[in-house]
Amino acid sequence: MATDIEIARAAKMKPITEIGARLGIPDESLEPYGRFKAKIAMDWINQQADKEDGKLILVTAINPTPAGEGKTTTSVGLNDGLNRIGKNSIVCLREPSLGPCFGVKGGAAGGGYAQVVPMEDINLHFTGDFHAITSAHNLLSAMIDNHIYWGNALEIDTRRITWRRVLDMNDRALRQIVNSLGGVSNGYPRETGFDITVASEIMAILCLATSIEDLEESIGNIIIGYRRDKTAVRARDINAHGAMTVLLKSAIQPNLVQTLENNPAFIHGGPFANIAHGCNSVTATKTALKLADYVVTEAGFGADLGAEKFFDIKCRKADLKPSAAVIVATVRALKMNGGVAKADLGKEDVEAVKKGVVNLLRHIENVKQFGVPAVVAINNFITDTEAEVQAIKEAVAAVGSEAFVCTHWANGSAGTEELAKRVVEIAESGQSQFAPLYPSDMPLFEKINTIATRIYRADEAIADSSVRNQLHQWEKDGFGHLPICMAKTQYSFTTDPTKLGAPSHHTVPVREVRLAAGAGFIVAICGDIMTMPGLPKVPSAEHIRLENGQIEGLF
Ligand code: ADP
Ligand code: MG
Repeated sequence: MATDIEIARAAKMKPITEIGARLGIPDESLEPYGRFKAKIAMDWINQQADKEDGKLILVTAINPTPAGEGKTTTSVGLNDGLNRIGKNSIVCLREPSLGPCFGVKGGAAGGGYAQVVPMEDINLHFTGDFHAITSAHNLLSAMIDNHIYWGNALEIDTRRITWRRVLDMNDRALRQIVNSLGGVSNGYPRETGFDITVASEIMAILCLATSIEDLEESIGNIIIGYRRDKTAVRARDINAHGAMTVLLKSAIQPNLVQTLENNPAFIHGGPFANIAHGCNSVTATKTALKLADYVVTEAGFGADLGAEKFFDIKCRKADLKPSAAVIVATVRALKMNGGVAKADLGKEDVEAVKKGVVNLLRHIENVKQFGVPAVVAINNFITDTEAEVQAIKEAVAAVGSEAFVCTHWANGSAGTEELAKRVVEIAESGQSQFAPLYPSDMPLFEKINTIATRIYRADEAIADSSVRNQLHQWEKDGFGHLPICMAKTQYSFTTDPTKLGAPSHHTVPVREVRLAAGAGFIVAICGDIMTMPGLPKVPSAEHIRLENGQIEGLF
């Protein structure tokens, strides 16, 4: 089969104005960036507020393994399948980050015959949103150091500045730095560092903002650091929020592109799924719901992290009511959960599938805890055997759900027709009784414990008194209503990435808690989290080049 980039290059794209017209977006409200990408005007979006919403469908997955699952590929495939059976559907995805493109992961625009195009643009600079986010973030950084240089009237403790700088690149050399070296005219040296742009709180804020006013308000609320008496200093105190919002004026507008089959796709926002909530922007999802009968959207990592945060953070904040969930699983990944080594995944092993399927079954149960009906998409790989697939189908049926073999990677929309039909039936049945896992007024540590026991199936969450005291302090300061953003390994239900399957009776140690006062959540850190990735020994950048004007090596 052709490579992803070869398939993408052979796509017969339609002018983006045609895709926009199909959604009823008038010419003057579509702002083309070239011929195949466009932003949608905010004032037109605001005028759609009274329209009825379509049905929201979440695509999530089992715990990721190096064997690959294909959430983005399946989201695109399901969207094409829905359109194929005559439904009006839009897929809402996150924008890829440059860092991973040049590292090991490659792009994030789907794969095979289920991709969004123009793939090269989407994976590289796209419509400049990441540039805008990087600039807004670093404007605040510059204004903080400038404030200190000119006398530090706010009495910021330079050892307690939490606002760092960002860059959209995997660059471990910048994780910890000392800035302002070189003498009096360069300011006051202090320790700081860089994070990757997708880890910026600005990215999380942009993705959760419900309007440009809400965006400015949230930016003003960002805590940039503390004074010696530990009182917080905010972006508003630095007077940065107005100019930062100006820089983000276009970035908040959803981006319209198309799938290989010329169906509409909104690709907007790309927050990290570990330190942030990892979902497509609220503006894009809400706009899509006004324009289509069905909206398919993906959440990062497995359902224990991605779906939980989608439900408890994004849906809670934006008042979204998902109608159905699709949990992506692969025979290969379930075999790995059943103990098979990566090198042996090509061999049939029904027993390993039966053993590893417990991971999938737990995710089904978990999604149902939110009141949302769930079905399984088995993302078919050519090495899968009939007996292995049958083992998954039987196990899933035994817990009252259904699994569909989907061959969209090889066959495009023809491979998801059956899944699409079932998803429509479920969405239209009104079965979904969505409710977040915990109420907003539950004490903060109890929220963490609820996620740990009900989703991760731990006996309890544990934390030192310093962590508990910090949470109590935030409750006194008026942050007790915020949801929790869990930061944990994506590979396991536990905090140990090597514990696959469906472990229980573990404990979840909460090492640190951080307040994202702008984005509106509290990050509970359980284990190591990476906010600036590095490149591997041989980065994929070494194989990316231009050949006769065409990009080669991007995948
Ligand atoms: P996720 O969104 O879960 O991270 P992606 O959809 O981006 O996963 O897929 C990861 C990679 O796996 C992509 O390069 C894609 O081409 C590949 N892939 C996905 N599904 C299949 C499949 N059925 N067969 C072969 N490769 C696939
Ligand atoms: Mg993805």
